Amino acid sequence: MILMKFGGTSVKDKNAIERVISIVRGRMADKPLVVVSALAKVTRVLCGIAEEAEAQHLKEVDELLDSLRDRHTSLAVELLSGNPEILNTCVSEVNAVLDSLTDFAHGVCQIGELSPRSYARIVSTGEVLSSKIVAAAMNVYGLSCRWLDARKMIVTDCSYMSAVPDLAATEANVKRFVPEAAKGVSVVLTQGFIASSVEGSPSVLGFEGSDYSAAIFGMALDADRIEIWTDVDGIQSADPRKISDTHRIDRVSYDEASEMAYLGARVLHPLTIEPARRRNIPVHVLNSMSPDAPGSVVTHECVAVGPKTVAVKDDIDYLEITSPKIVGVTAMFAGVFNAAETNAVKVVLAAASESNVGVTLESGQPGFEAFVQQLRKRFEVMVYKDKAEISVVGNAVVTAPGLVDKMTAAASGANVYMMSQSPSMLSVSIVVDRSAAVDIAGRIHKVIF
Ligand code: ASP
Ligand code: MG
Repeated sequence: MILMKFGGTSVKDKNAIERVISIVRGRMADKPLVVVSALAKVTRVLCGIAEEAEAQHLKEVDELLDSLRDRHTSLAVELLSGNPEILNTCVSEVNAVLDSLTDFAHGVCQIGELSPRSYARIVSTGEVLSSKIVAAAMNVYGLSCRWLDARKMIVTDCSYMSAVPDLAATEANVKRFVPEAAKGVSVVLTQGFIASSVEGSPSVLGFEGSDYSAAIFGMALDADRIEIWTDVDGIQSADPRKISDTHRIDRVSYDEASEMAYLGARVLHPLTIEPARRRNIPVHVLNSMSPDAPGSVVTHECVAVGPKTVAVKDDIDYLEITSPKIVGVTAMFAGVFNAAETNAVKVVLAAASESNVGVTLESGQPGFEAFVQQLRKRFEVMVYKDKAEISVVGNAVVTAPGLVDKMTAAASGANVYMMSQSPSMLSVSIVVDRSAAVDIAGRIHKVIF
C-alpha cells in the first residue's frame, strides 16, 4: 500500500479536489491511504479565530466563523450536487463541526483566555472540515471512500500545539483502524496535522505538520512509498517563490532532506524524514498541478556529492556570548547549553572558540528573555535580532571546492555574523541581516548552479 498526502493548496477548491480525485484514481492498484490538510489558508483563519477570541473580539470571531462556513458549504455544494443525499449529509456534518467550533470559540471569547489546549482544539478543525468534503467528493465521483478520524489513531503528549506522538501507541492504533476502515471500500481518507493527547483532547503536530502525519501513517503501515503532493515540482534548488531560475532535484538522501528542512528549505516538515527512514520508505515529493512530472524522491541512498539546494531560514536571532575570563570551550558550551535547556530555547547553529560562543535561535521563543538573563549572570551577551541563515546543503558539501569563498563573495558588502559548517559535512551556513538574505541567497544560487 502507499500513502498519499495532499497539502492545502492541492485541495483548495473544486478544480484542485477534482485533480486529487483523478490522481488517486490512477493509484487504486496501490491501495492508497489518503491524508489531507485543511483547505489552503484555513488554518490561518482558525488561528485568527483563536486570537480574536482570546482578545474577546466577538464580532471579528463571528465574521471569521461565517467566512469559514461559507467557504466550506459552497465548496460542498459545488462538488457534491450530483448526489443530493451525500451533499445533505456532508453539509450537515460540516455545519455540526462549525456549530461546535462556534460554541467553543464563544466560550474562549467570554473568558478571554486561550490555553494551548484550547488553541489546538480550534486549529484542528480545518482538517476535519476539508477531509469530510474530500471524502464525500470521492464517493460522488465514483471512488468508494471511507472517512477515518486521525484523532483516534495518533496519540501525543500534552504539548498541544506541537505535540509529540507516541509512535508505538500510534502504530498499534493505525494497524488496527486502517485495515478495518478499508473493508469494502477502495480508499480510506484521513487527516494530517491533527491527533489526540493522552488526556483525550485534540492536539496538533505543529504547523505544516501534515507531512509528518503522512510519514507516521506510512511507517505504521509499512507503506511501499509516501507521496507528498504539493504545488511545486518536487524539491527545488531554492525556494522558487523567492529565488529565480531554480531547478528540480531528482533525488536526495534522508540525511540531505532532514538537513534541508532543518535549515529552512520549505519542502517537507522537518520531522517527516524520521519515520520514513526507520522503515526505509521512499518519500516522493510531487506536484498536484502537474501529476505526471517526475518530482523528487528521498531515499537512503546518497547519489551525488556537492551542493543541492540553497536554504534560507529567516526567523533567526544571533547571540554572541563572550566570557570576561578565559574559561575554555567546555565551560562556555556548558554554560550556554545549560541555560538553553533550562529555558527550553532551541538553538539552531552553534560555533565556539576559547572564550566566545555564537549561537543562532529561532526568533520568538517564549524562554528567550529568561535565557539571555541567565547567560548575563556569567557572560557578556550581544543580541542581534532580525537575522537570517543562508545554508548550502548537500552530501559532503563542505568539501566542495571554493564554496565558502563563493558564499562570502556573494555576501560581500553585507554583514556576516557567523559562519558554520555542519559536522555531518551536509551544510555550510552564514548568518546575515534578514533584509539582505534573499538577495544574497539569490547570488549564491546563481554562482553555485
Ligand atoms: N493545515 C496545517 C497548517 O496549515 C497543517 C498542514 O498544512 O500541514 O499548518
Ligand atoms: Mg500545508
